[in-house]
Amino acid sequence: MVGVSETTPQQNRQSSERSAVVDLAAVEHNVRRLLELARGRTLIAVVKADAYGHGAPEVARAALAAGAHMLGTAHVAEALALRDAGITAPVLAWLHTPSTDFASAVARGVRLGISGGELDAVLDAARAAGTPAVVHLKLDSGLGRNGATEQQWPELVARAARAQDEGLLTVEGIFTHLAVADEPGRPETTEQLDALTRAVAVARAAGLAPRMVHAANTPGLLSAQDLPDPDVMLRDAVRVGLGLYGLSPFADRTPADLGLAPAMTLRARVANVKAVPAGAGVSYGLTYRTDAPTHLALVPLGYADGVPRVATGAPVHIGTGVYPVVGRIAMDQCVVDLSRGRDAVTGESRKAGSEPTVRIGDEAVLFGAAGHPSAADWADAAGTINYEVVTRISPRVPREHVRAAEVSGVVAPRGAEDQGGREHGGDAPAAQGAARDEDAEQAGRPEWALTRHPGTPEEMRALGEALAGSLRAGDLVLLNGELGAGKTTFTQGLGAGLGVREGIISPTFVLTRRHPNRTDGPHPGGPDLVHVDAYRLATAEDVDTIDLEDTLDTCVTVVEWGTGKVEHLSPSRLVVDIDRARGAAATPAAEDLAGVLADLDEQWGDGGAGSEPRRVTVRGVGPRWSEPPAL
Ligand SMILES: *Cc1c(COP(=O)(O)O)cnc(C)c1O
Repeated sequence: MVGVSETTPQQNRQSSERSAVVDLAAVEHNVRRLLELARGRTLIAVVKADAYGHGAPEVARAALAAGAHMLGTAHVAEALALRDAGITAPVLAWLHTPSTDFASAVARGVRLGISGGELDAVLDAARAAGTPAVVHLKLDSGLGRNGATEQQWPELVARAARAQDEGLLTVEGIFTHLAVADEPGRPETTEQLDALTRAVAVARAAGLAPRMVHAANTPGLLSAQDLPDPDVMLRDAVRVGLGLYGLSPFADRTPADLGLAPAMTLRARVANVKAVPAGAGVSYGLTYRTDAPTHLALVPLGYADGVPRVATGAPVHIGTGVYPVVGRIAMDQCVVDLSRGRDAVTGESRKAGSEPTVRIGDEAVLFGAAGHPSAADWADAAGTINYEVVTRISPRVPREHVRAAEVSGVVAPRGAEDQGGREHGGDAPAAQGAARDEDAEQAGRPEWALTRHPGTPEEMRALGEALAGSLRAGDLVLLNGELGAGKTTFTQGLGAGLGVREGIISPTFVLTRRHPNRTDGPHPGGPDLVHVDAYRLATAEDVDTIDLEDTLDTCVTVVEWGTGKVEHLSPSRLVVDIDRARGAAATPAAEDLAGVLADLDEQWGDGGAGSEPRRVTVRGVGPRWSEPPAL
């Protein structure tokens, strides 16, 4: 927890030499997204391997705060480390040996995956502790790793049922792990899920009553909606790892395609820049020689930091350019050739000038959120998968846990200049941003501003409902606010006030959703509501690809994360900014550990810290809004 700060990744990047910046707001976003897909199922957040390199206690707390129900690890030792960190949530651990500390697991309430061989040792531990072990029986339905095969299953079930009768065991769950879920459509997945169904029937017949049957990993969950019957995949619970970290398990889909935000940014400050002539050799073995006079930049991250040694050619983003790693990656460092850069936004290759485009101390990003190279790019260069790239970042690289003020800045730095230059450690980005904000204000100066302080989700909803009374077809509403601020709640109120069909949810997956006016509602014949999430749309050009113009005149259009992207659609608009009221004033509480913890636990509407009021500021721009609406 000590590493959690209230600063943006940008601020951290400017201050530290080398780090893996982990954005806990992105983790929370991902958890909410996965929960939405899981449609009410129990979410087991898999935080094994130090949360795939992201920092297990920090990620676990963020995931739980965002609504995950349970944690998963491979080893009991990893589960116990979570307990040591003060985390009391249910944890399931599933990979054991005869040396596993089952006594501590049972004593400290760690649930155990049981394949068969470890059962007697677990029963001994339960006997000694005087408490039943809570277990999930594991079926090997075709992966060929852990778990009882279908042949071994009846015997395992019988032993478990006897032990349960003796009070030594509680069989809470039954699970299996999928082999090819990352290739949706492969028949083996259906076969595995069918085997699980049979195994559950056998267990029930033997008198067991498991309340948690689970199979889906991240690819399983993300592809469930494409199955004829998603329930067959989703069962009672899903065990997701990779998705928490905002990475895609599919070769042909990016995190943004899936509505996920990559949480880790691996970055360092450039250690050296120098001019070299044509023919200069680079790094051990001199496997690379420059073909013209150029500049080389030295990045202080190497294979001892977990950067794959074989990843020569992988991209590094510095300033406005992306440059390939040239020559061998060494233990501590790697080199990029500045004559071989591409423009970070357009991808066009650049001519090298006589002056270097990069200076010592500049921010070099190996991989991170959209707009930076991705963990998948590094995986491709290294002949591996993104899972391995993030997981192998070594303890030598300090983790910096941050909660980015706005995830949009993390997710969509491509075109960040358009959004106020929030990204990239270039020249005085803050100053640039301020100048641009001023420009924007000149172009469409707000006529007035109303501020309200809803204290509960109900009040937020009521505020939306009240505003709807002033809206008519053709109105454009830009809705800004960090994740969890209450944007969806507000929009639900708008929808109720407009009398449109219900079911308004956060729209990220579909980008845009139209809610038709209800003939039996309060305003039959009124406008439909078009609900848009511009979160993944980096620029105004991206917005044009979703054809909002078609419905703009006849509907009320609400665009979440819309500021900086949709102003060109209409000269008049309402801008609604939601923030946590407290965010404005310095909070002494947030400066101590308890305050930071409270922030992590925070969820709108769950009482306690979550009941913190929001500040809603409504501003009107353009002739349509010369007068404020009645609120
Ligand atoms: C690692 C693991 C998961 C999580 O897999 P992802 O693809 O990262 O979601 C789930 N279940 C088991 C048994 C695992 O070992």
